[in-house]
Amino acid sequence: MATIKSILHETRVFPPDAAFVNQANLPGMETYRALCDEAEKDLEAFWGRLAREHITWHKPFSRVLDESNHPFFKWFDDGELNVSFNCLDLHLASQPDKVAIIFEADDGKITLSTYRDLHGRVCRLANGLKSLGIGKGDRVIIYMPMSIEAVAAMQACARIGATHSVVFGGFSAKSLHERIIDAGAVAVITADEQHRGGKINHLKTAVDDAIALGGTDSVKSVVVYKRGSGDVQWHVARDVWWHDLISGKSEVCEPEWIEAEHPLFTLYTSGSTGKPKGVQHSSAGYLLGAILSMKWVFDYKPTDVFWCTADVGWVTGHSYVTYGPLAVGATQVVFEGVPTYPDAGRFWKIIQDHKVTTFYTAPTAIRSLIKNGPDLPGKYDLSSLRLLGSVGEPINPEAWMWYYTVVGQSRCPVVDTWWQTETGSHMIAPVPGAVPLKPGSCTLPLPGILAAIVDEAGHDIENGKGGFLVIKRPFPSQARTLWGDPERFRNTYFPKELGGRYYLAGDSANRDLDGYFWIMGRIDDVLNVSGHRLGTMEIESALVASPLVAEAAVVGKPDEIRGEAIVAFVVLKGTRPQGETAHDTAIELRNWVSQEIGPIARPEEIRFGDNLPKTRSGKIMRRLLRTLANGEEITQDVSTLENPAILEQLKHPIA
Ligand code: ATP
Ligand code: MG
Repeated sequence: MATIKSILHETRVFPPDAAFVNQANLPGMETYRALCDEAEKDLEAFWGRLAREHITWHKPFSRVLDESNHPFFKWFDDGELNVSFNCLDLHLASQPDKVAIIFEADDGKITLSTYRDLHGRVCRLANGLKSLGIGKGDRVIIYMPMSIEAVAAMQACARIGATHSVVFGGFSAKSLHERIIDAGAVAVITADEQHRGGKINHLKTAVDDAIALGGTDSVKSVVVYKRGSGDVQWHVARDVWWHDLISGKSEVCEPEWIEAEHPLFTLYTSGSTGKPKGVQHSSAGYLLGAILSMKWVFDYKPTDVFWCTADVGWVTGHSYVTYGPLAVGATQVVFEGVPTYPDAGRFWKIIQDHKVTTFYTAPTAIRSLIKNGPDLPGKYDLSSLRLLGSVGEPINPEAWMWYYTVVGQSRCPVVDTWWQTETGSHMIAPVPGAVPLKPGSCTLPLPGILAAIVDEAGHDIENGKGGFLVIKRPFPSQARTLWGDPERFRNTYFPKELGGRYYLAGDSANRDLDGYFWIMGRIDDVLNVSGHRLGTMEIESALVASPLVAEAAVVGKPDEIRGEAIVAFVVLKGTRPQGETAHDTAIELRNWVSQEIGPIARPEEIRFGDNLPKTRSGKIMRRLLRTLANGEEITQDVSTLENPAILEQLKHPIA
């Protein structure tokens, strides 16, 4: 592979301020480097020490890492623990009355749940599930709205050793059906309704439809939480109301002590690049990653009010709603609704009302809030904030600057966290009291994470050039396999071409002369224009830097002369331009990119939409745009596409 030519010229640097460093869990570069050195010197001793210090074990482990069946690694495998015990019972002794969850419903109604209350809810449900015959090793599908109950359902599964598989509530009956079958689930936990942005989504009806599609005989029970009217069809032999199931059940449920490697959950990837993969995680290694990143990256303090806006249907909602915050004993906000309802100030109002200190969201939400209310944060009191985070996609430097200056008032570090469903927890992210920030870069790997950039033969590439992002050594929170498909796991993540040794992330990245990582896009998205390899990210960031542009996605289409020509799909801050205006704006933006990056990056064509095609987790689906740019019909898997109608707008070049 020819290396990606680095044309990013972001030069702004934000060192941590002294006040932040003074109170930080990992203060200063020396502290960070000392941990990195410890890991490099003896990786097993490093992870072994942390696993002993941060996890409470029922039976201590004697082995740290078993690599004998590469790449199916085992960590701490003769140890026993329970993840729900680590998240709840531990805090029951020390802080039973601390609020664990501040739940804000779509309509603004608030419910508080303390550690004592949450523990009781989880135990009652766990006892209920046991009474249905569900136990260790069984798979349970969770298809729920954001709620205290969704968190409790996941924790209850963890408590009894059942492996959960959460399916995002926005998915159709068909997607749900595929996942029920793939998992071989014995039960589905759902709700009658989901309320988001003032709209009602009938979850129980979708479960009925999914089961009616057939082949789902494994499902013996459907547990239904009554969120709304309760007006649903009922299958007496199979369905049970949540409130009936827990009625009379004890608030004590001895945790099932399980082996460290027992699968805590499986979860499907968001499907940005293809058919979703059923990623399987362990118990102990996964938990360790969630706990350490809470402390290292979010600099967690007991006085924090933590808020991760991700749905529990995504890995971010697993690690930074259900497991990480509870494992460290945090108070966190759980929000049922959407950022723009009743208006684009909703996030800022929640931060103000609940005095949120740590706020973690996605670039897609940030860009949509810039488009819908760039000055709105100034209307709210956001002085409680002390740290901001970003996840899910590369954050364009201009969006980063807005987040940093307008939301964070230039006071709060922005942690841009690069990781994946498959990595379980943060991999490359700034340790905020140590690492100077650069807008658009996820900065440096966390201690113990041996991230690197290699060429197609697996050889290191020098800093300043781009290539494949890999992680060279195993780490505890990584996925153990793909559910039921170990060969696909090996071929996808440890391909022979790279010698089969390294974990291949599937992203391309660039490392600058300071060793900072810049994610350039998916490997498949790299463009080759006249022999120059360009990452989609840098062209998109140049477009977003234009005062006219809210959001942009760039793809290539075959071009006889240049190899590939660049097609840009653009959402303007104002309304979608038509006719002559569209034509003129396109010329203006093409020239803009040419000036910002160079003539090589000038888009051949620009199309305008009110939005871009996105997965239900908010990621841009470039593979669909590639098909449109080529003038072809879409035949790929679109089950995870949020807004199919937008494809029609983007189908044709500007007349
Ligand atoms: P699929 O694997 O099915 O295509 P997906 O990769 O979108 O779906 P996730 O595991 O949710 O599913 O997303 C991980 C990917 O998201 C990363 O590989 C990367 O491309 C992108 N990503 C996540 N965080 C960041 C970040 N901070 N900066 C840049 N890219 C990020
Ligand atoms: Mg992926």
